[in-house]
Amino acid sequence: MLGRTEGIVLRSRPLGEADLIVEYLTRDFGIRPAFAKSPRKIKSRFGGSLEPFTHARISLLGREDANLPRLTQSDIIRPFQILRENSGGFVQACGLAGLVLKLLPERETAGAAGTFELLLWGLDGLEKQPGSAFVPLVFKLRVLALAGYAPSLNGCARCGRQSEIFCFYPRDGAILCENCKKDGPAIKISAALKGLHKSLSEFPLDKLARIKPGEALLSELRAFVDMHFREGANIALKPARPV
Ligand SMILES: [Zn+2]
Repeated sequence: MLGRTEGIVLRSRPLGEADLIVEYLTRDFGIRPAFAKSPRKIKSRFGGSLEPFTHARISLLGREDANLPRLTQSDIIRPFQILRENSGGFVQACGLAGLVLKLLPERETAGAAGTFELLLWGLDGLEKQPGSAFVPLVFKLRVLALAGYAPSLNGCARCGRQSEIFCFYPRDGAILCENCKKDGPAIKISAALKGLHKSLSEFPLDKLARIKPGEALLSELRAFVDMHFREGANIALKPARPV
């Protein structure tokens, strides 16, 4: 018996003539695909609540270990319709949902509530500011940490010292100072970048707008997060599931 929770529609796919499999990020049960009976028929009781990114109060019926619980109720809390109708914002939102699907194993409840809040924050930010470069970057940085892939940036991983410049080794997920640096793929990061990464990782979501980094530092951070994602975290990511 799963019961009631809040869910955000990550994606859906048709099943047979009139049914739908809706993949949710739920606050309480993690990522859960659910079976929706006949939502594609006219006058479905689900209305528009199964559209991508809809935030809804839902009821799932089935055993805790059920592969495909049944969706019995879905009431819209926030439709994110404006976001869906903006093509650029929609593509960006698909990117956030794709990261969640890639990083959070299905049915994993640890970190689910935090990821849920983060996704709501991201969708809200993209609806208000479609095209924002800041929102997807912060989302990526924080969802990596929630999934257990936070880089270790506290100090040199070998001698523990602080320094103005570090080399980040994505395959180790750690930094080394100028004295300890070694061969291998690495990216230089400054103390300022390290500070920005810390602030963006730790600030409460509703206060993130107060951080206004300069464009140069922001693109430095983007390069760093992308490299960490591509060459570090990506190694251990769960294999993609067929849609
Ligand atoms: Zn060192």
